[in-house]
Amino acid sequence: MTTMSALFDLSGKVAIVTGSRTGLGQGMALALAQAGARIVGVDRGAASETAELIGAAGGQFHPIVADLSATAALGDIVEQTVKTCGAVDILVNNAGIIRRADALEFTEADWDEVLNVNLKSAFFLAQACARSMIETGRGGKIVNIASMLSYQGGVRVASYTSAKSGVMGLTRLLCCEWAARGINVNAIAPGYMATNNTQALREDADRNAQILGRIPAGRWGRPSDLAGAVVFLASAAADYIHGVTLPVDGGWLAR
Ligand code: NAD
Repeated sequence: MTTMSALFDLSGKVAIVTGSRTGLGQGMALALAQAGARIVGVDRGAASETAELIGAAGGQFHPIVADLSATAALGDIVEQTVKTCGAVDILVNNAGIIRRADALEFTEADWDEVLNVNLKSAFFLAQACARSMIETGRGGKIVNIASMLSYQGGVRVASYTSAKSGVMGLTRLLCCEWAARGINVNAIAPGYMATNNTQALREDADRNAQILGRIPAGRWGRPSDLAGAVVFLASAAADYIHGVTLPVDGGWLAR
């Protein structure tokens, strides 16, 4: 009989986590390592703090420095992962950026930069991982990071809302194409979380009060709040869950 803890056990699994140097990616990389996975952390900067945290928890962390604003490195990331760790079982497409400006003033550069990292690279890295997962016959789990702006419009974030709405649609499309190939594609939609991504909002006293006042849980989320959701969606416990975007938002969407 499978024990409940075995359902969530990621021992022997290899997880690529993008954007794992800080914030939510760091929190999810640590959680997956605590569940037993070896972590390949992809970031444009050195992820020394994440390496230390995972090392201290008794896990294994293999850093890859790569810029996800272009697709050139994506094939290499999967190749290096397979070479170093033997396979890729889990992909967490987390790296993301945001640019803020009124839609009337929004520049093409702010559009392209965000779409390239948040949507284009996420798709082509998923494609490269899925090819490997299918080739080895091991299947796998892909977890994309969506947003409240996959559901809502927001203001002053035209490229971010477009990319994150795209991430939710892409999650459904990939589910339809890959579920029968043994790959679960799902997403997590974090609510308002205290990271670099939201620093400007938290420093604006009015916006901070508006946002906090609408979160039923009454506080900003923390990277550790995503631990359970990411381990669940990356584990055998989620084997029949496909195409879902799971909000982890302190109740924001229910309001
Ligand atoms: P963050 O800025 O702390 O982390 C982003 C990470 O992505 C960093 O480690 C950064 O170095 C990496 N990164 C950015 N551009 C990259 C590139 N071109 N190549 C490689 N790595 C790159 O922000 P965060 O809040 O932890 O964001 C993580 C994800 O969660 C993003 O996709 C973000 O849109 C999403 N998200 C955040 C919130 C929130 O409230 N913080 C809410 C919903 C969704």
